[in-house]
Amino acid sequence: MLFTRDVELGLQAAVGLVNTLPDVTDSGEDGLATMEQLDTWFEREAFTGERRRDARELSSMRALRERLRGLWEADTDEQAVERVNAMLRDGQALPQVVDHDGVGWHIHATRADAPLADRVMVEIAMDWVDVLRQGERPRMKTCAADDCDAVLVDFSRNRSKRFCDVGNCGNRMNVRAFRARGAAAEEESR
Ligand SMILES: [Zn+2]
Ligand SMILES: [Zn+2]
Repeated sequence: MLFTRDVELGLQAAVGLVNTLPDVTDSGEDGLATMEQLDTWFEREAFTGERRRDARELSSMRALRERLRGLWEADTDEQAVERVNAMLRDGQALPQVVDHDGVGWHIHATRADAPLADRVMVEIAMDWVDVLRQGERPRMKTCAADDCDAVLVDFSRNRSKRFCDVGNCGNRMNVRAFRARGAAAEEESR
């Protein structure tokens, strides 16, 4: 097992959040523009604790996305560490071992009544602690498609995953390469 299950889920939740940014794909659609979209994300990722469901909660979650993307964009481990530590400081992290909903023992480093964006930020920073400690930052990738900036976590055995799960990018790039080869062959036969 690469990461513990809760870390894996946390990293996936982070990916889902970053990939709602409007400039991730060509569509330019913001996937976190409304409270309903935040509700959907929250339920899907099985986050716990209090929700305020007000404009401030939504705007701080929207703002958090860029900060999380900064983890994926770090050029070195040191830079990622700096960003993770800043998140832990800003979220006033205080790790406590907890269990709920049959998850098994895991760490919550914020109070359940802290603002949602702080809880999510600290949780994801804690997940990144594991990534860095295990030397697995190379698994934290940006989609290899030339027209896509979505982020992904590569959980594959040999770190071979290249494309995100957002825009059907793997298939799209295959089709494009296939067409390019076809066009080149046609050129040659003329
Ligand atoms: Zn929990
Ligand atoms: Zn992609």
